[in-house]
Amino acid sequence: MKAPEFLKLISDIGQLDHHQRSVLTRTLAHLSDEPLVSELIEKAFDTKGICPHCTHTESYRHGSASGLQRYRCKSCKKTFNALTGTPLAHLRYKSKWLTYLEAITQSLTVRQAARDLNVHRNTTFRWRHRFLTWIKQDRPSVLHGITEADETYLLESHKGSRKLGRKPRKRGGSAGKRGISDEQVCILIARDRSKQTVDFVTGNGAITKALLTEHLKPILDTDALLVSDSNPSYHAFCQAENITHEAVNLSQNQRVIKGAYHVQNINAYHSRFKLWLIHFHGVATKYLPNYLGWCRMMDEYQNLSPEMLLNSALGEFQHLTVT
Ligand SMILES: [Zn+2]
Repeated sequence: MKAPEFLKLISDIGQLDHHQRSVLTRTLAHLSDEPLVSELIEKAFDTKGICPHCTHTESYRHGSASGLQRYRCKSCKKTFNALTGTPLAHLRYKSKWLTYLEAITQSLTVRQAARDLNVHRNTTFRWRHRFLTWIKQDRPSVLHGITEADETYLLESHKGSRKLGRKPRKRGGSAGKRGISDEQVCILIARDRSKQTVDFVTGNGAITKALLTEHLKPILDTDALLVSDSNPSYHAFCQAENITHEAVNLSQNQRVIKGAYHVQNINAYHSRFKLWLIHFHGVATKYLPNYLGWCRMMDEYQNLSPEMLLNSALGEFQHLTVT
């Protein structure tokens, strides 16, 4: 429905009598996003159309279940539907998925989303990480031109795990050791001047040349010029890989060199990410990549919609992927 028609509809609602209002309320309550969700799921599958068990490309239609077409593979004879083999397989309440993804675009907490959707918070917690599993992989494959890179650290957290390898720490507590220790998890972020961003959780402890090679080398275009702080690992990495490099000496209060090279965009990004993370009240380290991907999608798309997120969650990426 177009916007003017919708406004007319809303203004007409004022003229409804009591009975008409209750009929309308009941009708709205029974309206469901499920057909739209099923359509998006089937469409994402149609573009690939391969058997999730053996990757064969031919299958028969084999009835339907839970609102989705079932298929039977011509090669391995196993049955499947469009969600088999995706992180969304066996998730229930499809009618609520778009409302949930709307909550993702608003950074709602697990509790807030559970209240809005009238489901248990264990459900919204499970959904968060199932949806984000592929959403976080929807990212640029290559960064171009002037590219800032810098790492930041968060204290390792085993939130939600039953077993701890150490004594529990109070929330927001500080690490027991000074400097970068094995209790700190390194987050490496690179961003080019067209604001394309990639993020990596490189593991516990400080960044090294080997880690930079592993993560940054595959995503830097040959024309890339890397700007970093004066951490020698970046220098060693760029020298070994023959990448043009500019290092800002932040400890000597150097902010910008040659009028163009700085790491202010990446430092601002780190700050935004950490600030955004605060309202989730501590996140488990094992889920950090999901949160980084979530934050990155919101940073990249001002008009991020539930439909876009559902496509990403189904592997229909916004970004072109190199295969
Ligand atoms: Zn098969």
